[in-house]
Amino acid sequence: MAAGILEDAAAISGEIAGLRHSIHAEPEIGLDLPKTQHKVLAALEGLPLEITCGQSLSSVTAVLRGARPGQTVLLRGDMDALPVTERTGVSYSSQVADAMHACGHDLHTAMLAGAARLLSARRADLAGNVIFMFQPGEEGSAGARIMISEGVLDAAGERPSAAYALHVASSVLPLGVVASRAGTAMAAADTLHVTVRGRGGHGAQPHLASDPIPVAHPARHGARPRRARRAAASGQRSDPGGVRASHRAADDGDQAVRCLRSRGAHRRHVPRGDDR
Ligand SMILES: [Zn+2]
Repeated sequence: MAAGILEDAAAISGEIAGLRHSIHAEPEIGLDLPKTQHKVLAALEGLPLEITCGQSLSSVTAVLRGARPGQTVLLRGDMDALPVTERTGVSYSSQVADAMHACGHDLHTAMLAGAARLLSARRADLAGNVIFMFQPGEEGSAGARIMISEGVLDAAGERPSAAYALHVASSVLPLGVVASRAGTAMAAADTLHVTVRGRGGHGAQPHLASDPIPVAHPARHGARPRRARRAAASGQRSDPGGVRASHRAADDGDQAVRCLRSRGAHRRHVPRGDDR
């Protein structure tokens, strides 16, 4: 099965890089990515795949049925860009104002199309099915949830026994290096908005005002050591999760926005009465 796969990947690498550059030059944000979807469909044309497109988002689901019996596996690549202005100067720079593939999802999409090519060529040896999940709306639009509600997990007729995704980290790792870890590698992100309401007043009469900052500020900073202690207590020091907090003052209140990172469903759960 693996024989010659590196050579075959090298043989199509120019084509896959071209697809990536094309997607990069025309970035699309959110759930509606018609140009990206069109490029994916063109890249998959002629392959022995069962292809369906999303109804309420421009996703692409492609099923490859191996010639031999086996389990179903899902491979996922995200397709959406970010509201960022590109100033890289590369020849395939974004041609769209205030949109850029700054997170590397152009690579993920092109890589998944490449995987579909390579695995399709090995269909006779393939034991089981592969679902290729091209997903819009990774950047906060819950694209995966919508694709699941539209049936991506049942696309091959049976639920996948495993699902794989990856993320490029070109600013972190040198070219050619792949990193992973035991257990869950990628974090979930949840957002918690906390509003502490105060009351304005005159500087000469602070006792008549209600300043929300002394309440909001320690609450914001208190979340990090709280979670770190819980992680240490559960023996998961390598899996601390995290809290990214931002904070803005308003006339009538003081708002703290927390982005809670967690790895694994057990870390995501916040018991009531414990971590309020
Ligand atoms: Zn990303």
